[in-house]
Amino acid sequence: MLGIYMNSEKLTLSSRAFYNDQFPPFAEHLTSMLGYDMVLPMNTGAEGVETALKLARKWGYEKKRIPKDEAIIVSCCGCFHGRTLAVISMSCDNEATRGFGPLLPGHLKVDFGDAEALERIFKEKGEHIAGFLLEPIQGEAGVIIPPDGYLKAVRDLCTRYNVLMIADEIQSGLARTGKMLACDWEEVRPDVVILRKALGGGVFPVSAVLADKDVMLCIKPGEHGSCDCCLKFYTSIYHLAIFFSLLYRSKKSAELICILLITVPLAGIHWPVLNFLNPMIIKFYLKELKLLSLYGSVVFDEDFEAQLADNNDARLEVSLLARSPDQELTEVSNSIVEQVGL
Ligand code: PLP
Repeated sequence: MLGIYMNSEKLTLSSRAFYNDQFPPFAEHLTSMLGYDMVLPMNTGAEGVETALKLARKWGYEKKRIPKDEAIIVSCCGCFHGRTLAVISMSCDNEATRGFGPLLPGHLKVDFGDAEALERIFKEKGEHIAGFLLEPIQGEAGVIIPPDGYLKAVRDLCTRYNVLMIADEIQSGLARTGKMLACDWEEVRPDVVILRKALGGGVFPVSAVLADKDVMLCIKPGEHGSCDCCLKFYTSIYHLAIFFSLLYRSKKSAELICILLITVPLAGIHWPVLNFLNPMIIKFYLKELKLLSLYGSVVFDEDFEAQLADNNDARLEVSLLARSPDQELTEVSNSIVEQVGL
């Protein structure tokens, strides 16, 4: 909080029409950390997804030579990518779409986790398909982890059929599953990555789309963009988000030392600002970031899940959490039970 307060006294918003000295280090950190040429920042996750869809369509027309206005985006049944018109047009959930038609055309659905079904669609319509959008772990209809090897199979199919693999890592990205990206679990590199939640550290709405130049530069200056922002906040916050989420998950001291070695230089310049030894500040960040680091870490028994099914608020609260046999986190799951009043 102190960092945010100090920065807000100097600079709050900066229009993208002007150069500022905060954006380049932010872009440099994020692209070098994740290994992409370019990043486009925005505010909400849905905007990030919209950006990825526009990028895929533009790339489809310019690079893949899809005939005008015939580009198709494939997405998964049970997906959640936000609430804008283009995004709900991909939803299979009646509650998301009822009363908002007409929806945008140019979408096809496939079952999440079914690589064979994806290949059938690619075989049939591949020439018109610009992108395949997926969450590496689905988070809306329960937490659904795909079968082992699925992400790799998706990567291979996308490469083979010249389709952009677009990973919505809004929920799972930046160490929330214990790896920098959830796709890293299968050592898969998507063509386009969308980030949000951990990027703002639970404090700011900021999202980002990462891609290499051959994809990103299909969009020219003036064709797309948003986010008037002071990104210095974000740089310190997202370093912290990563730091604490990795820290929280680390169980062995060797792991901890590695994490410190990696994250301290990243956050190094912020040490005095962070006032790291101030327990109040640590408490704040732990409170804010605890849920982030829990993605993929809590097991619920059947009774609890049955109660959740009847309690929408509670479902919402815990929909971030995936299953894993990590008993150490029982305490935390208990605190969530208390929080949501079950
Ligand atoms: N994609 C995923 C996987 C999400 O979980 C969310 C929101 O929870 C979104 C997209 C939309 O993000 P936002 O609410 O910032 O628009």
